[in-house]
Amino acid sequence: MVLSDQMEWDSPMYREAVAQFEQVATIMNLDDNVRERLTKPQRAMVVTFPYRRDEYAEVDTVFGYRVQHVLTMGPTKGGIRYAEDVNLGEVAALAMLMTWKCAIVGLPFGGAKGGVRVNPRELGRAEMQRVTRRYTAEIIDIIGPQKDIPAPDMGTDEQVMAWIMDTYSQHQGHSVPAVVTGKPPELGGSVARREATGRGVVSLLPGAASHRGVTVDGARVVIQGFGNVGRYAAIAASELGCRVIGVSDITGAIHNDSGLEIGKLCKYVDDEGGVKGFPGAEEITSEELFGLQCEVLIPAAVGNAIRADNVSSVDTKIVLEGANNPITLEADAVLRDNGAFIVPDVLANAGGVTVSYFEWVQDLQNYFWSENEIVGRLREIMMKAFEEVLEISTREKVDMRTAALIKGIGRVTRAKLIRGVYP
Ligand code: NAD
Repeated sequence: MVLSDQMEWDSPMYREAVAQFEQVATIMNLDDNVRERLTKPQRAMVVTFPYRRDEYAEVDTVFGYRVQHVLTMGPTKGGIRYAEDVNLGEVAALAMLMTWKCAIVGLPFGGAKGGVRVNPRELGRAEMQRVTRRYTAEIIDIIGPQKDIPAPDMGTDEQVMAWIMDTYSQHQGHSVPAVVTGKPPELGGSVARREATGRGVVSLLPGAASHRGVTVDGARVVIQGFGNVGRYAAIAASELGCRVIGVSDITGAIHNDSGLEIGKLCKYVDDEGGVKGFPGAEEITSEELFGLQCEVLIPAAVGNAIRADNVSSVDTKIVLEGANNPITLEADAVLRDNGAFIVPDVLANAGGVTVSYFEWVQDLQNYFWSENEIVGRLREIMMKAFEEVLEISTREKVDMRTAALIKGIGRVTRAKLIRGVYP
């Protein structure tokens, strides 16, 4: 039987990730052996484990996953999500995307992803801790600073990373901060990690603007989402002299054509819990946000935000994908036909994993860098990757998404061919 007939991780999301890979592999005329190999994760672990609810007699059993897509590049790297619908297929697809993302920005990691099938909003803090510690114990043999380094993802945060680090360290008999990234700074977490993704996205704005013939100073920027990514993208864009004219979050959308005062907006969101009602801006609908005429659009909230049914109202010259997968395939084609220059998620939001890489390096060396060093090195890595992807896009006459994947898949393929097949 052919291995592909029996894929435990088969799911719509996994098939989509493979289809995207195959499309690019065909353009690249990829080596057949490597092509077959890369469509399957190298290691996929499924565990089930019990944890005690706050009601002591009640014990729930849940599924946990950890998938490592490629072990060729060094340790693997990727987040852990807690969600009630997470499954092996989703985690395996995301692990593959992490492989490409790390390779595109040149980090010495393969891709990984993990998950626990629980609803984090239904768990108290003590329950979260028990789930996290037991999940860590279940996957402990396959994680470690030289093996696989988890990070936060949906439903997990700095505190969850601290519990993973502590559980792993208790088993080793000494502190091992480099086993996870996205930790609190007190445990060896990196300064500037929180703002890394948003700042990384905007570090590509000047390069994209110069390519598309847009003047950065005064450029109108619209951002969907004002969480971790959107907020710091807004701050960085206004620092560049852009006018952030529209922002939305789950509470609503706001608009001010002269530019929103981002410092005041951040404080307002901290106090009020969302952008809705911010003084000095008019309220608009979430649909109207995408219709605002602008030079730069940054979707930084959810997947599939720009779709066939709303893409016709979008009027922008540049899209920087802060969120993962914010544009559907059909909408992507429409935007490009309308002349928009799209910097894809695998490149644009790689700032998060890049600063995670810095955190891992600092933990291994026990030597911590200043914020300026981190922000400067982040910008350098992001801009270099952008220029290389743009060069591939021009040379091969393909869009930036395809060019980014050509770069990432090419790097992994070369490494695999040089290492050879064991034994
Ligand atoms: P977050 O939870 O901090 O913020 C999400 C924001 O989006 C919030 O402001 C929320 O109110 C808003 N939002 C949610 N649904 C919305 C909707 N339907 N319309 C408008 N706004 C909505 O999350 P984040 O860390 O900022 O991540 C945002 C996206 O970026 C996700 O797709 C995530 O996978 C991706 N991403 C994040 C990182 C990172 O380092 N945080 C790295 C890579 C990719």
